Amino acid sequence: MLPTTIKIGAVPFAVNTDDHEQSNWGHIDYTTQTIKIASRLAPHSAAQTLMHEIIHGIEVHFEGNSGEHDESKIQRLGNAILLVLIDNPDLCRMIETLRPV
Ligand SMILES: [Zn+2]
Repeated sequence: MLPTTIKIGAVPFAVNTDDHEQSNWGHIDYTTQTIKIASRLAPHSAAQTLMHEIIHGIEVHFEGNSGEHDESKIQRLGNAILLVLIDNPDLCRMIETLRPV
């Protein structure tokens, strides 16, 4: 199940599925603060796509929007981070304790 919101820096993005998206798997919109994921994707593909869009958001939020996007690098980095999180549940639990209450 997709999260309903992803916060990147100070910006909360609403995460929605998109039934009409045929060509792209996902999209991040900085003006409406939304991340759309194609509803036809299986769970693992949806997670990879969400991580891909998060990496785009991190790139723009923390590095500025230069208009240059290395899609291949973003895809590889997103897939790698997702695999590390999947393969290390203790890491995820440790990160969970870092969240302010
Ligand atoms: Zn992309």
